Amino acid sequence: MPKVIIAGGGIAGCAAALAARKAGAEVVLFERTDMLFGVAVRSGEVNGNGWFIGQKELRFLGGGEFFAALESLKIHDNARFPDAPAGHPFIFHTGLAEPLVRRMVLGAGVEVHFETRVVNARKKGARVEAVKLTDGSWVEGAAFVDATGARGGLSVCTRYGKGCMMCLVRCIPFGDRMGIADKIGGRELGRTRPDGTPGTVNSAVAVFKDTLAPWLKAKVEKEGLLRIPLPESLIDTAKVGIGDAARPKEFVENIILGDIGPVAKCFGMVYMPQEQIRKVPGFENVQVEDPHRSSFNHICNFVFSERDTALRATGWENLFCAGERAGHGGVVGAMGTGYMAGHNAARSAFGMEPLVLSASLALGDWIAFAGEQYATADGLKKHFGMGRGAYWERMLKLGLYTESDNAIEQRVAEAGLSNVFARRLK
Ligand SMILES: Cc1cc2nc3c(=O)[nH]c(=O)nc-3n(C[C@H](O)[C@H](O)[C@H](O)COP(=O)(O)OP(=O)(O)OC[C@H]3O[C@@H](n4cnc5c(N)ncnc54)[C@H](O)[C@@H]3O)c2cc1C
Repeated sequence: MPKVIIAGGGIAGCAAALAARKAGAEVVLFERTDMLFGVAVRSGEVNGNGWFIGQKELRFLGGGEFFAALESLKIHDNARFPDAPAGHPFIFHTGLAEPLVRRMVLGAGVEVHFETRVVNARKKGARVEAVKLTDGSWVEGAAFVDATGARGGLSVCTRYGKGCMMCLVRCIPFGDRMGIADKIGGRELGRTRPDGTPGTVNSAVAVFKDTLAPWLKAKVEKEGLLRIPLPESLIDTAKVGIGDAARPKEFVENIILGDIGPVAKCFGMVYMPQEQIRKVPGFENVQVEDPHRSSFNHICNFVFSERDTALRATGWENLFCAGERAGHGGVVGAMGTGYMAGHNAARSAFGMEPLVLSASLALGDWIAFAGEQYATADGLKKHFGMGRGAYWERMLKLGLYTESDNAIEQRVAEAGLSNVFARRLK
């Protein structure tokens, strides 16, 4: 059986591993920490706006089991976010997701090596031959998936805030991130913020639930999502668009507090110093969870691989990328691109041409559109989630949003792609 090697065990890497196994390949996954699920351990919100379409298409494409697993951990249904008026947004228990996903990946027969970092790669012509691990050994494979997430040096952290979500996935003790394509001379792209400075700095602040006032803790656990107006003196309109250009001003005028299980999360909130947040009723004794505090705690999509519509790293025959490494974040985005990269890596390993999803599907159109946009300086400044911003607007314009399961199933069938990710290739 040909071997597919996956670097990184976040959502994208796990989805890639499941897809490559289903396609019939032997799969080895290297994860530098001792856990799977990556930065999604502090996500929680799924299925809003266009993400609803993404996950439905994925289901009809034969890659529905990952989302179904998260759905089984749903703790708050119909959590309406200010920027997700459509879809069926819900919050899942982020604390219970990793063990569930770990069981799925191991149960599928994926060989997972924890606390094993990929540090280099070796090429022959336009093919990747092997990856090098921290212990100096080289592991050869027939095809590779880079799912190592967003990359950016520690200088980025000191510039935008000390300590962030990346620390939660133990970036310092487990070593910095890397991109396989970068190691062998492939092209990488760097995102910029609206003001032209490097890197997308998203925002979200997690707080320990027990440090909220008992009445507020009880309320958020009961209702799932609260909109808490900030006192006038704490509203800083200069923060609109700092955290995420596509987030509306509701996220600066209010705390959008959600219960994601182990902690409560201030969705889309640009960090405010402790003495300020403690002026908000119910937050008098609050403690922010992030290890060193931060100016922004969701640093993402800094540097990623240039790739084609098959998610193949530009210039490389057998190297695919997924999730934030392919310029596609979000839980469902990492999942969708993960399935596709894993499936295509298996195809490559079996000597088959990679699959390109039809542009009649939102997932196919999204991958192609974002790829085109990333080729321009302006595109590198934009947000390309399915939930808001440029792609959500495009999805509506193209009429790709629908509430009908039948219509989505039909569109996948008409593209000749029903259950494509569930089919064994050989
Ligand atoms: C704080 C925060 C809140 C978020 N909230 C939401 C939300 O509510 N809803 C939503 O849809 N999205 C949310 N997102 C975005 C979403 O969680 C991410 O886009 C998605 O999980 C990224 O998955 P990934 O697999 O591409 O990358 P990552 O999760 O970063 O996974 C990469 C993995 O690769 C490993 N790795 C890195 N380098 C190496 C190496 N050299 N060798 C081996 N392993 C390596 C890492 O340890 C990690 O496990 C949030 C993100 C953050 C940071």
